[in-house]
Amino acid sequence: MERSGLLIILSSPSGAGKSTLARRLMEWDPTLRFSVSATTRKPRPGEVEAEHYYFRERAEFQSMVAAGDMLEHAEVFGNLYGTPRAPVEEAMRAGRDTLFDVDWQGGQQIRASALGAHVISIFVLPPSLAELERRLIARQQDAPEVIAARMQKSRDEISHWAEYDYVIVNEEIERSEAELKTILAAERLRRERQTGLGRFVRSLMEEGR
Ligand code: GDP
Ligand code: ADP
Repeated sequence: MERSGLLIILSSPSGAGKSTLARRLMEWDPTLRFSVSATTRKPRPGEVEAEHYYFRERAEFQSMVAAGDMLEHAEVFGNLYGTPRAPVEEAMRAGRDTLFDVDWQGGQQIRASALGAHVISIFVLPPSLAELERRLIARQQDAPEVIAARMQKSRDEISHWAEYDYVIVNEEIERSEAELKTILAAERLRRERQTGLGRFVRSLMEEGR
């Protein structure tokens, strides 16, 4: 069945598990496209250019914004992050769904954009702030002061939970993954999204006449 591409926004306080969930969703459905953001943040060990992020200097990032090449952009933890526009528009036209790992500012901007009607947004909450901190430490990716800064910002991010269509409390990862798949499967079946449905039903009615 023909369908227009969906823009699936995943947001959460840092460490709640959205990258883990995004990765599992992509393994489940290889047709999903992950929106690779540009950032001025330095790469973490193991992060690959053009796979995790496009790592850019501030001046380069700002010239992309000035040229209108970003669908949205925002400053998070002192670094700039933004979504390149062209690949998103291309995927939409091809009927492919795109997954976004962006903060609440990115979520607001994409919802307000011309593509807003195609957005579904999901907020991931940790079971507690203590568990959030444990996960940030267990990830072994950030220095203690970076973790402290992320914990400080977590209440800010969480305060935007009610702007999202769906909320998942990520306690047990298998369960959260199943919930995320359920959301996507249901959203894909929405009548107004299945653009070929009218034609299909007409052909059903004509059958055998
Ligand atoms: P992590 O979320 O702790 O793994 O740290 P990152 O440095 O990868 O991301 C920090 C924050 O920036 C997270 O809340 C991301 O969702 C957000 N972020 C990543 N890319 C973008 C983007 O293109 N736009 C916006 N607005 N936020 C982004
Ligand atoms: P985010 O992308 O939101 O910053 P990550 O996906 O990197 O978060 O998860 C942070 C850490 O917590 C990672 O080490 C990840 O393996 C772990 N994690 C994610 N979900 C769970 C869960 N449900 N239970 C326990 N640990 C989890």
